[in-house]
Amino acid sequence: MTNVHFHPSDDTLARYAAGDLDPASSIMMSAHLEYCINCRLRIDELEASYTQVLESTPAEPMTCGLTEMLSQILSQPAEPLGVEPVPISGVLKLDNKEFHLPRALQRHKDEIGPWSRLPGKIQRAYVSTGGKSKMNFIYMEPDSALPEHTHQGLEITLVLSGRFTDEHASYGPGDFIVQTTEHQHSPKTRPGQDCLCLTLLDAPLHFTSGLATLLNPFSQLFFRC
Ligand SMILES: [Zn+2]
Repeated sequence: MTNVHFHPSDDTLARYAAGDLDPASSIMMSAHLEYCINCRLRIDELEASYTQVLESTPAEPMTCGLTEMLSQILSQPAEPLGVEPVPISGVLKLDNKEFHLPRALQRHKDEIGPWSRLPGKIQRAYVSTGGKSKMNFIYMEPDSALPEHTHQGLEITLVLSGRFTDEHASYGPGDFIVQTTEHQHSPKTRPGQDCLCLTLLDAPLHFTSGLATLLNPFSQLFFRC
């Protein structure tokens, strides 16, 4: 039913449903939901349970009017999340390639910076979302590799198009991959297979293997505006 294999944690879903995520994380989540029926249904359940909590809260006598209004709003059918995949729209251009963007990113199209080249046949474009985390589009050409690295903070990667692999798995469109300081990996693409991802970092990467450690000064490139 779905080809998405990696999802946000239940805690992250709950915080999203409660409107408790920072703007950049919310964009990542909204974009994932456009690919993932399972998480859309889970958000639907969570929102329904919040509604139940509100409904079961006893009304104060002085706030009858407000309570009545609230119960009227809550009794209206919730906007259906639907079971059909949400169509994606908008185009991101890179060289002679065009990628369709999730709607969550369409709204931020004017905040996408120019593409710049990084070592290892990688290109990136910064997305200015505010907040302290840094959001980037990362485009990996076919048969390219990012040197093995650890994370000094949290790294969230959402695959938008194509596929990449690391030591642990293979990741395709919609996959939501969370890496922490405990994870170490070296993402790569196969010959003939490129990959466009959206990443959110809250600290620079740290390259760990051989000559790649010389790249550590470059890791700031993934992190700066
Ligand atoms: Zn999901």
